[in-house]
Amino acid sequence: MGLIDRLLSKQYPFRFIYSSEYWMVDLGRHVFPVRKYRLIYERLLAQGVRKDAFLEPAPAADEDILRVHAPKYVRKLQSGDLSRSEIEALELPYLPELTRFVWLHMGGTILTAETALREGLALHIGGGFHHAFADHGEGFCALNDTVIAVEKLRAEGRIARPMIIDLDVHQGNGTASLYAGRKDVFTYSIHQMDIYPAEKPPGTLDVGLWSGDGDDQYLAALRADIPRILNEYKPDLVVYLAGADPLAGDKLGGLTCSLAGLAERDRIVLEEVRARGIPVAVELAGGYGRDLEDTVEAHMNTIQAARRAQRAARRMALRRRLTNGH
Ligand SMILES: [Zn+2]
Repeated sequence: MGLIDRLLSKQYPFRFIYSSEYWMVDLGRHVFPVRKYRLIYERLLAQGVRKDAFLEPAPAADEDILRVHAPKYVRKLQSGDLSRSEIEALELPYLPELTRFVWLHMGGTILTAETALREGLALHIGGGFHHAFADHGEGFCALNDTVIAVEKLRAEGRIARPMIIDLDVHQGNGTASLYAGRKDVFTYSIHQMDIYPAEKPPGTLDVGLWSGDGDDQYLAALRADIPRILNEYKPDLVVYLAGADPLAGDKLGGLTCSLAGLAERDRIVLEEVRARGIPVAVELAGGYGRDLEDTVEAHMNTIQAARRAQRAARRMALRRRLTNGH
C-alpha cells in the first residue's frame, strides 16, 4: 500500500446522514418501504462501517421550511388538520408521528448538503421527496427536502449555482414547479413519461423514457448529458437523487434497467461530479422493488459508487497537496 492509500484508509471516505427514527412511522403494508432505511443502516454496520461515520439530523427549523412552503400548508401539516383530499393526494395515512418523520427528513437533507459542502460528498439514507409543491404534498412527499436544503444554503450565501440531478423514475413535479422560470438553478431529470405524475412541469433539461426502456437508452442519455451540463453550468453544489425505482420489476415504475446498469449510472454521475471537485449531496429517493432486497441492493450499489468516487477525489486532492509540498 502506498503512502496516499495508507493516509486515506483510516476512515470511511464520507459521512452518512441517518436517524434511527426514520422507520418509526409504521405504514403497515403501504408500498412506501420505510424499512429500507434501517436495512441499509444495518448492512453498513455489518460491513464494518464505524458508528462515527453516521451523523444524526435534528428536525428542520420552521424558518427553513417556510422559505419554500406556504405557511398555511405548513401549519396544517403540523396540526394534522389536512383535508381528506389533501391526505389522498399525499397517498400516506395521516399518523401523529408523520410530522416528526417529515421534519426529521428535511433536517437530514439539510445536514447532508451542509456536510457535502464541507467534505465533498455526503449521503442521506433517506430523502428525495420531489413531489412536494409549495402548498400541497403528493406521492408520499409532504415537504420538498431538496429545495428546502438548497434554498437554505443559498440564503446563507454558501452556494449560488446549484444543480439537481434527479434520476428517480418519477418526474420531480414538485421541484420543477417550485423552480419554474428560475434561472439560478439547473434541474436535470431522466424519468418515465407514461407513469405518475400525469402532468410534468418542465425542468432545465428533461429526458423522457417510456415503459420498457432500459440500460441502453438510460445510459446513452446520461453519458451524453452529464459531462456537458457540468462543464457548461459549472455548479457549486450537486444534489443527486439516486432513485432505485428505474430498476426492472419496480412496482411503481416500468423501466427495465438492471442492477449493473444502475450501478454504472451512479458511477458516471458521481465520478464526473467529484472529478471536477464539485461537492455532491446524495439522496436515496424512491425504490419499490417487488422484492425489497432488490431495492436495498440498488441503494447499496449507489453507496459503493459514492465510496469509489470520493476515494478517487480525495486521492487526487492529497496527491496535489503532497506534490505542491515538495
Ligand atoms: Zn420515484
